Amino acid sequence: MRFDILTIFPEFFGALPDQGIVGHGVVSRALRSGLASVQIHDLRSFTHDRHRSVDDRPFGGGEGMVLKPQPIYEALESLHLLPRPQRPGGDEAVILLSAQGQRFTQSTARRLATLHRIVLLCGRYEGVDERVAELLCDEELSIGDYVLSGGELAAAVLLDATVRLLPGVLGHADSSRYESFGEGESTSRDTLPAAPMGASPSYADDGTGREVNLGPRPAVPRSTHASSGILDYPHYTRPAEFLGLSVPEVLSSGDHLAIRRWRRQAALAKTLANRPDLLQTAELSEDDRKYLASLGYTSPA
Ligand code: SAM
Repeated sequence: MRFDILTIFPEFFGALPDQGIVGHGVVSRALRSGLASVQIHDLRSFTHDRHRSVDDRPFGGGEGMVLKPQPIYEALESLHLLPRPQRPGGDEAVILLSAQGQRFTQSTARRLATLHRIVLLCGRYEGVDERVAELLCDEELSIGDYVLSGGELAAAVLLDATVRLLPGVLGHADSSRYESFGEGESTSRDTLPAAPMGASPSYADDGTGREVNLGPRPAVPRSTHASSGILDYPHYTRPAEFLGLSVPEVLSSGDHLAIRRWRRQAALAKTLANRPDLLQTAELSEDDRKYLASLGYTSPA
């Protein structure tokens, strides 16, 4: 998958091998292994005046400046992405990052991960001339209900969330299926066999912010029984006791069925505490509903 990022701050994204978002973690690994590529384009390279101006005053007056459409048009033209829209259901998307856009969610990331090419256009100042959204972009996406000072952070969020879903990028395909907002099958799957001893690697931070390969995974029950639209369950590692708080005993019991049940219930409890809205659309079993009811949750009619 190819990403093109259009920005007035190209340095924001860093450079391989070790800078910024492209030089770290999962994104860096995907780029090095050729599963994804990222090209950064400076919008000022598509200006023609002495000051390389990308912005101008707003029609109608008011505060701030607005990004002009012409440099964006020329940047997209140089990338052979015009005219737009391309074929409906095509395999590329030109996306404007915008607080006024549709909400970017995990399911948007899953959809984007099926495309071959994504262009991310980062706004600045008061935003981007509206004709860019109308004529040059396929969609307008917001990463949340708050206003950032520029689209670069939003583009980095979208890049990371999408790249980690590309087949082969994460060490284990289940990692992205069985996590918060994941699509993994739900609940009551206690009868599923435990995941086999995995040949796929697991990764951990090496203390410098980089991920190191820890080698084959140990034989464990399938890693999470959250997913199906709820939040992930709580994770613990050594030490077994930290500041007087012990790891739940069941996790050291070796009883995989009990661990799966505990994780499912802990995920439900956490979802109820932090994101009760998710329970309205989550795939819940009878057992889940009973457990939630024991915590005082009643589903809306
Ligand atoms: N005047 C705009 C408004 O009220 O909606 C805010 C413009 S903001 C200061 C500048 C740029 O930051 C936007 O053009 C957009 O690219 C980016 N941005 C701000 N908030 C965002 C969000 N929640 N999601 C995605 N991009 C955002």
